[in-house]
Amino acid sequence: MKASVAMLHQKTHQSSVNRSGAHQKSAPKTQVVVVGASVSGCAAAMLFARQGIPVTVIEKRHPKDFYKPICTHYIQPCSLNAWRELDLYEPLLEAGAVKNTIGIWTKWGWIPKADLGDVHAMNMRRVTLDPLLRAKMINTPGVTYLDGARCSAVQFDSSGAVVGVTVESGTLGSFELPCTLLVGADGRESAVAELAGVPTEESPNQRFSCFTFFRNIPNESRSTSRMWMLEPYIAYQFPNDDGTTLIALMPTKDRIADFKADRAACFRQIVKALPDAPDIDGAEQIADYLMNTKNSMLLRRKLPRGLALVGDAFMTTDPLHGFGISWGIISASELVRRAAPGLLAGHRPDREVAAYHQARYAEVKGHFKIMADMALAKPMPVMQQMLFSAATRDPEMSAIVQRFLAGTSGTSELLSLRTLLRAFTTTVRHSLRRPPLMASESSNA
Ligand SMILES: Cc1cc2nc3c(=O)[nH]c(=O)nc-3n(C[C@H](O)[C@H](O)[C@H](O)COP(=O)(O)OP(=O)(O)OC[C@H]3O[C@@H](n4cnc5c(N)ncnc54)[C@H](O)[C@@H]3O)c2cc1C
Repeated sequence: MKASVAMLHQKTHQSSVNRSGAHQKSAPKTQVVVVGASVSGCAAAMLFARQGIPVTVIEKRHPKDFYKPICTHYIQPCSLNAWRELDLYEPLLEAGAVKNTIGIWTKWGWIPKADLGDVHAMNMRRVTLDPLLRAKMINTPGVTYLDGARCSAVQFDSSGAVVGVTVESGTLGSFELPCTLLVGADGRESAVAELAGVPTEESPNQRFSCFTFFRNIPNESRSTSRMWMLEPYIAYQFPNDDGTTLIALMPTKDRIADFKADRAACFRQIVKALPDAPDIDGAEQIADYLMNTKNSMLLRRKLPRGLALVGDAFMTTDPLHGFGISWGIISASELVRRAAPGLLAGHRPDREVAAYHQARYAEVKGHFKIMADMALAKPMPVMQQMLFSAATRDPEMSAIVQRFLAGTSGTSELLSLRTLLRAFTTTVRHSLRRPPLMASESSNA
């Protein structure tokens, strides 16, 4: 066990009070405590420690190689630089991450795979990704990793600023861990946010997810992911590491009872009816069907001083868009960039942390709002119809829509006057190009 963990055993009895007013034993102050060792917690811990800032990571699960099974693990092109910053871009590819771009089926036809140059998505199962990322974090000098340790309370000083946490550990017992900055990286249900009294804004999601894995799908392109926008259902085909392919469905919630009664029959019936469907009858299914119905979108913005949130704890998006992993590590990177100088200078970086939350939300709020609208599973609004149909007919429109869906551009490009005019003229040109109706057809109309 690392020296700093041994220090925790000494429990130096510093005094602080939790919300219930109880005094507890506490360990020496570490600068940053990160709660949660999944994607965003590992990224934040590694990046703080690399700046020379001591970090203690508290993770309730163990052993160290656990992973998140409920995830379809599409890694968006917008996060490639963040993976490079973590020195994990090449290791992910070496471990089998599949480079790909995505084709999107709409009722107007396919939005073709974009030529994004060096920019691409990656597909890697969480069973491979999570242990790799966590091992890198644990081996980063300056990180103390406590697994099987749950954050059970948040400590405040008399001004209402967060100054530490209470930890319940299977091996170390119960103790307080004071810190200069507490980072909640503990996912959509964020115990840290709840214990710190942070309100949650929630928007509903009318779809649920059901997915499974296959091998050897006949005639499959291993460098192409596919998405079907069936209105209102959504489906995906993602080639993954180790020759596997994930196929996911996101039907509307009125089908939950049918799926619960017979997942296989419902799943296979919908997949086999997809336009240009993957041949699942000719493939080997290698996993059970996993279902997830808890997928409302969450946002937490009103935080006390001394607390930062990253990843799903800050912003849980609709899984349909495949942004959770990418935005998780990007948020960790942005937090560290803003907060590290203050921590290194020896003070709590309140202003910088507030600026991080504001800037991060401002960066993605256009996306977030579109996701929240799409999660209602209503008919596609007219403007979206125009953009998507134009993207099936015009390569430049396809690139614009693909860049937006990949997170490499925002609403400033997608909804610009220039884009909307191009979509409009593409639509008009297309309707003018339609062959004139035959006399018999027009009389039938
Ligand atoms: C059905 C589905 C499909 C998805 N598909 C995709 C996709 O294709 N692409 C994509 O990018 N994202 C996808 N996501 C989202 C993605 O899974 C999450 O966004 C991502 O895992 C968030 O990472 P995180 O580190 O913020 O939180 P989490 O992965 O939720 O990790 C939180 C960690 O905190 C720990 N923890 C919790 N409470 C405590 C506590 N009190 N004390 C100590 N530790 C604690 C947990 O054990 C866990 O390890 C999908 C999600 C769902 C539900």
